Amino acid sequence: MTRERGKSPWLDPNKEGRRSGRQSRRYCSRCGNTVKQFRILRGLNLCEPCVRELEHKRDGQMACKGCGRLAPKEVKEHGGYCLECICPACGRPDPSHIRKTGLCLMCAEGLGEFCRRCGKEAAAQVRKNRGLCNVCAGLGKKKQ
Ligand SMILES: [Zn+2]
Ligand SMILES: [Zn+2]
Ligand SMILES: [Zn+2]
Ligand SMILES: [Zn+2]
Repeated sequence: MTRERGKSPWLDPNKEGRRSGRQSRRYCSRCGNTVKQFRILRGLNLCEPCVRELEHKRDGQMACKGCGRLAPKEVKEHGGYCLECICPACGRPDPSHIRKTGLCLMCAEGLGEFCRRCGKEAAAQVRKNRGLCNVCAGLGKKKQ
């Protein structure tokens, strides 16, 4: 991943809006507001008011039903939830529990202390690595 420092996900009216090139004609794909009126979210081509509205609605089409994050592709693939709200072990959505433990409630209880790949008992590691022991998570290949 390349890090572009200071690059915001927004197209800003104070910058792009004043340019005469293609950027100044960017507009919201949902309501048609232009970058001269509102900030436009890069990638999704949505203006700031639309982003707020969608995040608030959590419609499961554009925004995740669990956390409101706008991620249309993820949401579509995972039945209304973004990847961050889907249990990495079983694919079930459980936003609040996954945020706390990295797994859905059922997996957290079911797996408990065992690595879901090799079955080793390693409660702390399993909790930290979302169901995997350090070795299976690709960490600490050598014993320290
Ligand atoms: Zn809009
Ligand atoms: Zn989410
Ligand atoms: Zn699960
Ligand atoms: Zn393991």
